Amino acid sequence: MINYNKALEIIKNEIEKLTLHTEEVDLLESFNRILAEDVIADVDLPPFDNSAVDGYAIKFSERTQWKIIGEISAGNFSSFTLTENDAVLITTGSKLPPNADTIIPIEDIEVNGSTLFLKQNSFFRKGMNIRKQGNDLRKNAIAVHCFTKIDAKTIAVLASCGREKVKVYSKLKTAILATGDELIPINEKPEDDKLRVSNIYSLYTAVKEMNHTAINLGFIKDDKKLISEKIKAALALNIDLLITTGGVSVGKYDFLKEVFEEQGVKEKFWKVNIKPGKPIYFGLYEKDERRILVFGLPGNPVSSLVNFYVFIKPAIEFLFRQNEIKSVTAILQNDLKKKDGKRHFPRGILFEENGEWKVTSEFSQSSGNLVEMSRANCLIEIEENKLNPKKGERVKCILI
Ligand code: AMP
Ligand code: MG
Repeated sequence: MINYNKALEIIKNEIEKLTLHTEEVDLLESFNRILAEDVIADVDLPPFDNSAVDGYAIKFSERTQWKIIGEISAGNFSSFTLTENDAVLITTGSKLPPNADTIIPIEDIEVNGSTLFLKQNSFFRKGMNIRKQGNDLRKNAIAVHCFTKIDAKTIAVLASCGREKVKVYSKLKTAILATGDELIPINEKPEDDKLRVSNIYSLYTAVKEMNHTAINLGFIKDDKKLISEKIKAALALNIDLLITTGGVSVGKYDFLKEVFEEQGVKEKFWKVNIKPGKPIYFGLYEKDERRILVFGLPGNPVSSLVNFYVFIKPAIEFLFRQNEIKSVTAILQNDLKKKDGKRHFPRGILFEENGEWKVTSEFSQSSGNLVEMSRANCLIEIEENKLNPKKGERVKCILI
């Protein structure tokens, strides 16, 4: 059985070979999309020398008294030629008169009629409070780099570069299928040994959280013929990832692995030395120019979602070169039991106290315990060779 790092490496190696498509979107529709081009500044930013404060523009000299000869507000430029004796009222962001070189903030000034005085104890320096043309970015330089995820900060730069439309990477298409005789639709009340099909919802939403396209293929019974038909149809879809949940373990009715093989999926690994989520299967389907990464996740609700967070999510982030902050180190608030050589991902509640990150993990760690997982905000990652981490130790917490 392979270890976690090796398994993730295998997935990354395959996902990297997916062909990325691009599309143009309106700038206002580009939130959370990933830029597929270097965006070049078509103008200097800022486009002209301007005032950083509300104040008075002067031509620098040692004097401390001036005559006010006019005003310039943002967007209402008039060209004054200043002598050392003159001052022009100027508002923040306004273009500077041609020979002004210094702005004295309004707070440092007293006005008497049309005469301006420097307040006692105030001082000024030549060149102060001026934002120089091109100081932020020069025309033709790269304003936003390819693979940047577009958010409020970056969209402002794209807007300043005049980009009404931007080229972004198309979303990955991920189909999700659940299997199990026990499954029923969520609008039915479970009776006897039946169970609402919650995994479709968790995996669908996990894909959406990453802003990719999720396709719900529903759920089917543990019937090999049915599963074969469904998998065959799924592999004919225009998708990048196929995620199944359930039926991939060693039970008598766990047909997925067999079916994948029969349908031409090449197994890359099955079972990883982790807990929860050990039975995960990963394979590759290739036909003509198409490639589909196939993930067979176990049915346990916690296992399947943990598998998504520790394998599929990091692989997609790797593909799109995203390196957001995904983990923190925190002080464990209770002992944890770990007696085996697997990598464990217990659920934890991360919180900040006295400027430090702390994590508790006292609740049930059963891989079927979905409600407790829903209350967690991190997975604690405990490596293979680490046993029984103790209260007070520092542990890595992956944010979920
Ligand atoms: P399996 O991996 O097929 O052996 O499933 C393990 C257990 O996970 C099942 O006994 C169910 O309790 C649960 N389970 C399987 N599929 C789902 C699903 N789609 N939604 C919620 N729970 C499931
Ligand atoms: Mg099953």
